[in-house]
Amino acid sequence: MGMLKALRGTKDILPGEIEIWQYIEQSARDIFSIYGYREIRTPIVEEAELFKRSIGECTDIVQKEMYMFKDRGERNIALRPEGTASIVRAYLENYSGQSPHIKKFFYIGPMFRAERPQKGRQRQFHQIGVELIGSDEPFRDAEVIYLAVEFLKELHEDEKDFCVKLNSLGCENDKVAIMQKYRESIKPILSSLCEECRTRYDKNVLRLFDCKNSECNKILEDVKAENALCAACTNHFELVKEYLNDWKVKFIIDPKIIRGLDYYTKTVFEITHRKLGAQDAICAGGRYNNLIKDMGGNHTPAIGFAFGIERLLLAIEGEPPYHMDEKLDLFIVATGETLYNEAFKLLNFLRRNSRYSCDVFFEEDSLKAQMRKAQREGAKFVIILGDEESKRKKVLFKNMDTGKQEEVEHNEEVILKKIQGKIK
Ligand code: ATP
Ligand code: MG
Repeated sequence: MGMLKALRGTKDILPGEIEIWQYIEQSARDIFSIYGYREIRTPIVEEAELFKRSIGECTDIVQKEMYMFKDRGERNIALRPEGTASIVRAYLENYSGQSPHIKKFFYIGPMFRAERPQKGRQRQFHQIGVELIGSDEPFRDAEVIYLAVEFLKELHEDEKDFCVKLNSLGCENDKVAIMQKYRESIKPILSSLCEECRTRYDKNVLRLFDCKNSECNKILEDVKAENALCAACTNHFELVKEYLNDWKVKFIIDPKIIRGLDYYTKTVFEITHRKLGAQDAICAGGRYNNLIKDMGGNHTPAIGFAFGIERLLLAIEGEPPYHMDEKLDLFIVATGETLYNEAFKLLNFLRRNSRYSCDVFFEEDSLKAQMRKAQREGAKFVIILGDEESKRKKVLFKNMDTGKQEEVEHNEEVILKKIQGKIK
């Protein structure tokens, strides 16, 4: 029988790698809570209908990328492909009875999309994101974008290495107008586009811009970006830009930022990173002022973003001063089985009272092999329980850095005192 492997497009995150994940997650928790966001954890499985309704029937995510199955009760279930839909569902389920007020949520967790795996693109990937629900104020758009930038700075990213791209899709009416304009300008070249683009042309022409076909991309590159914002949306967008300028956030306007989900309105943005290749978007977000109403709630404007953690990792690889120390601090070795019980007692005491990481490796039965293991693990101290010393109620205490070895009374408190404050 062949050995089983992790599914294509999924990855184990191993000790040694996990430290940088923890570093990223902790940095996110720290900075998001400073901005008033509270963590929310929603289920990984939801009714498939939730994503179809919110993300949009003719998006890539819903048409091709969702992991769907029928559960034992014949219900249509999907693994979540993104975070916003679930959070909106949770918001409506848990908070909608309350008087309207601003809620700020952040989330960290796995998402699932059946895409072709490549660098920076997996089938199970991870996102860190925020959702700010209950405000349509332009300063909130700016605040959310500012937070995304501050998060990157928290991760020691240089402003020169990333780029904030901004656009506005306007309100529902503006979107209709923009789509109409795109239909007109694309009509003459429609026959040269792929079949999928041709079917999407009628349903949602904006979707043509995230076609995965490079031929189509090339043809559509020459299509002039359309703009048809009403006075209110123009004003909103101007204010967002003013705030960002005031707050010294660098950005560029890119009218081709359209986003692959149908629910966006008004401000949309992406952050790309210089160190990434073809998949260079590390963060994407925008306003979704109609989604909550469309999902059955009251009119509640909202805005959010999501970072892809795998792509963040590619961007910050080898840079920051994160803690990669996965070594054990302390080893107890013993010369023979008769001393194991003594060793376990000491081990339990030191684990509880010193808080240092410590272990025994009696699987390696010779003393020499145990010492070698201690060396490999980078132990700072080794406590040796030997037959000779044991008769005199002593242990050998070895400082692995200096190589110095001394006899110490076999007494838990004495040994604890010897090591306390010595290991960083
Ligand atoms: P892309 O254009 O790369 O397909 P997207 O528009 O589908 O991205 P969003 O749905 O906006 O991406 O998700 C936000 C972020 O999540 C992306 O900017 C990216 O960093 C990350 N992301 C999305 N899909 C994947 C994936 N399959 N593997 C790894 N990261 C991903
Ligand atoms: Mg995608």
